[in-house]
Amino acid sequence: MRFVSLPLVIALGGVAAVPATPITAAPSADILGFTPASSRVEREWETRFRAMPNPTRMRADMKRLSAYPHHVGSPYDKANAEWLLTQFKDAGWDAHIEQFDVLFPTPKERKLEMIAPTRFVAKLTEPPVPGDPTTYQTAQQLPPYNAYSIDGDVTGPLVYVNYGIPSDYDELARRGISVKGAIVIARYGRSWRGVKPKIAGEHGAIGCIIYSDPADDGYTQDDTFPVGPARAPNSVQRGSVMEMTLYQGDPLTPGVGATKDAKRLALKDVKVFTKIPVLPIGYADAKPLLSAITGEVAPSDWRGALPITYKIGPGAARVHLIVKSNWDIKPVYDVIGRLTGSTQPDQLVIRANHHDAWVNGADDPISGLVAELEEMRALGALKKQGWSPKRTIIYAAWDGEEPAVLGSAEWAETHAEDLTQHAVAYLNSDNTGRGYLSVSGSHILEKFINGVAGDITDPETGATLQRRMRASRELRAPAARRDTASKSGDIQIGALGSGSDYTTFLQHLGIPSMDFGFHGEGGRGSYHSAYDDFYWYTHFSDSSFVYGRALAQTVGTAMMRLADADVIPYDYTDLAETVKGYAGELKRLVSGMADDAAKHNREIRDSTFMLTTDPRYPMAAPTIEADVPKIDFSPLDSAIARLSDAANKYNTTFTNTLDNAKTSGDFATLNMRLIKSEHTLTSDAGLPGRPWFKHLLYAPGVNTGYGVKTIPAVREAIEAKDWALARTEITRVSAALSAEAALVTQATAELAN
Ligand SMILES: [Zn+2]
Repeated sequence: MRFVSLPLVIALGGVAAVPATPITAAPSADILGFTPASSRVEREWETRFRAMPNPTRMRADMKRLSAYPHHVGSPYDKANAEWLLTQFKDAGWDAHIEQFDVLFPTPKERKLEMIAPTRFVAKLTEPPVPGDPTTYQTAQQLPPYNAYSIDGDVTGPLVYVNYGIPSDYDELARRGISVKGAIVIARYGRSWRGVKPKIAGEHGAIGCIIYSDPADDGYTQDDTFPVGPARAPNSVQRGSVMEMTLYQGDPLTPGVGATKDAKRLALKDVKVFTKIPVLPIGYADAKPLLSAITGEVAPSDWRGALPITYKIGPGAARVHLIVKSNWDIKPVYDVIGRLTGSTQPDQLVIRANHHDAWVNGADDPISGLVAELEEMRALGALKKQGWSPKRTIIYAAWDGEEPAVLGSAEWAETHAEDLTQHAVAYLNSDNTGRGYLSVSGSHILEKFINGVAGDITDPETGATLQRRMRASRELRAPAARRDTASKSGDIQIGALGSGSDYTTFLQHLGIPSMDFGFHGEGGRGSYHSAYDDFYWYTHFSDSSFVYGRALAQTVGTAMMRLADADVIPYDYTDLAETVKGYAGELKRLVSGMADDAAKHNREIRDSTFMLTTDPRYPMAAPTIEADVPKIDFSPLDSAIARLSDAANKYNTTFTNTLDNAKTSGDFATLNMRLIKSEHTLTSDAGLPGRPWFKHLLYAPGVNTGYGVKTIPAVREAIEAKDWALARTEITRVSAALSAEAALVTQATAELAN
């Protein structure tokens, strides 16, 4: 389901030249968390491991797994799960399928027609493409729709709302345009799709159409499919619109596993469906609708790349929208494999990728899954050769990620107690392509993953993945900061919002998590369409599967290290540094809001708005804003200082102890304490208004969706100008950071003994 933002891809374009100087270097230092003796043994096993992932087999596996549509509840989804199970067993894993029963609506009726000023019936289909065999499987495809839209049959005037984010509605209000009783048409982008119908409904709209504009996703990006990878006119982005900022997983069983006899909510009591019907369309269907809208011309930054005059409406254009679903319970099949650890078997290291797709899904998710399969086979082979990981390794292939991370959420909720106490880390991948290693996740793993990325070779440049990442960061950094950007220590990893299976592990259970993929080069534009298939992937993405192999080498190496380390390789200095950065952002957010409010109010008093409005299209002046009060961040600053101090002391002791250890030590008690590190950053009460989300540092934004909000409760309170809540939440986050500092201090004492 993951979608990599476009600006990143543009910014990284054309940085792939191979340097003339030697760029590979043999890694020699001890591995983080290992004594010198165990580090040497580890490196020998890793060398064997990294030689095993096989691009030819990955290509064959992709062809097999994407041969037919394999969405939740389809015959091929089940067939894939059973085939995956045999792969695990053949590789020597103790494996089984765990089934859950979840609510998964599928289309029953979809209709979109314009009834005035002219008649037009939207096709709502993705035609087959000559030369691409799987696009002819129309009978087995799940047609374009948005899962978890409520049923509806509505007629109303059409209003164009740009991306349909809150600021777009502010703009409409100033023009005196209301969407009350209207059907809105919004373009994909700038927010998670489910946010668009939510905000439209809050403003009184009765229906919502979401389309892909070629300015964001289509012919302005590249040649369109099948000539190039970019989205063709009839290609539609499917996707879930469930209100996933409340909770994720099965809508009927929030917080508990959707097992056979789980207690289920009645449909009428479910709060995560949309409030208005919503349907996605391609730009071939959108163009006649948008060009029929009359009224005021849309502001310049609202105009897309269709050859039309973008107007807002409401005007002559009226549309009729019908969306109806079969609200059925469907099985999801999670494939779970286990290699039991030798000395600390109850500690768990978990790795997964989903196997379900919207249609054939060669890119999303099979590209990541075939890499995971190669890791799984290689680790099974190492085990047969005598490798014996300390901790238990779990490899999983989730079902039902696309609708609402169903398979992973239900599994994690079912095993919540075991996972909270014993899970060392959860490593995720999803779709992957070519280019740069992209890693986001828990910052206690930042130093660790820098070490891994420094030991893996980029297949096309021969440099380490870490050096390539650093080079791209350097070019992206503002010119004045280029020198420092390249010489600093660890490459910073991003924080995780939502959008793939890590969500439940990180944000609901507080398990350290990371998400991996290669992005930035190669084609894009098939996302969640019937054209995301084997033909598309092998023509426009990682067609030689060498980046797939690099992904397997990276994540597999990380898994081996997490399973074998003497001391779990968490580091708290990068965490402290990152949180300090977040606190700085919050302070700048408040001072920026104060400056903006002052400027805004001055402009109103000076009649600036009234003097610049076109009398023929009058716009109301915005209203006076209340002053922004002073917010006391000192409790947060003190807690961060405590954590930073504790982290530095731990770091020194950690390095000394491990460097001087004669043999591989027994750190079982220490490790059990360290496992609580990430969970200490959560709160049982959860975030305000959404208790399922328990992490105090990372969450998807209420009004942005996938995009992460860091220190979310404080940040969103500030954005909502709820100053009292902001103060309360600063106290709560500060307490969690102080508790983390105390944990780290205790761990230091244990290490020193
Ligand atoms: Zn996916």
